[in-house]
Amino acid sequence: MTDIQANLTEASNLLVESSDSALLDAEVILCYVLDKPRSHLRAWPEKELSNDQQIQFLSLIKQRQQGTPVSYITGDREFWSRSFKVTSDVLIPRPDTELLIELSLDILTTKTKADIIDLGTGSGIIAITLAAECPDITVIATDLSQQALDIAKQNATTHKTHTVKFIKSSWFENIPESKFDLVVSNPPYIDCNDIHLSQGDVRFEPDSALIADENGLKDIKDIADNARHYLKQNGTLLIEHGFDQQAAVQAIFKTYKYSKIQTHTDLSGNPRVTSAQWNVK
Ligand code: GLN
Repeated sequence: MTDIQANLTEASNLLVESSDSALLDAEVILCYVLDKPRSHLRAWPEKELSNDQQIQFLSLIKQRQQGTPVSYITGDREFWSRSFKVTSDVLIPRPDTELLIELSLDILTTKTKADIIDLGTGSGIIAITLAAECPDITVIATDLSQQALDIAKQNATTHKTHTVKFIKSSWFENIPESKFDLVVSNPPYIDCNDIHLSQGDVRFEPDSALIADENGLKDIKDIADNARHYLKQNGTLLIEHGFDQQAAVQAIFKTYKYSKIQTHTDLSGNPRVTSAQWNVK
């Protein structure tokens, strides 16, 4: 048997070829196996692993070596300081998407009550985070995938956001006539020929959450087109998109006669979210 430190060294050597965060990956996976926080690894480097722990750790490191994302190995990922359950049925939450939360909260702080819809919720991060941060709002979350909705519902239970209503729907298709203050979405927006799809973690994520026709813009168009019938006067549409889609998304919003069209930059400095208002009577 070997201790924590020896296991971490060995595992990060094994991962260095396949991951650019080898030591961190090894630490996160070991914490998962030991069911301990990262501080435990620092405090007890000489602590021996049990036989079972050793076997489990090496088998998970092998999965990581073959490319499986760390979040799919541990089954969770942090977003806006909360832990969300994830499986290969849903996209792994990205820090970029926190921009959608920031912008939504800016809008919600100006209102006492608000009706919101999160389209293509996946693991539920947007709907659940907003419901947790603003308990007085009503939130609908949709997804076409029943597996995704099941995970999102579990996350809603974990975070005690029991008011979020989940509806199985392709964008607005099954949404009864209603009006929202905010329509928010992180839809699929990657073109099927994008080289990034064959690299890293995205290889393991569901295509349906990543890829869209028409150079990645088809679902954004569909949402922008239909949101016009679901937004209150001066309601806001907020959509995440690719770093190189700012002009195309702005053009789509213009075509559909939205006003106050604005693109916002994520923490890495990329244009990532475009917002607009609906005020055509
Ligand atoms: N931002 C993600 C990526 O580039 C894609 C997420 C999406 O398509 N909504 O990996």
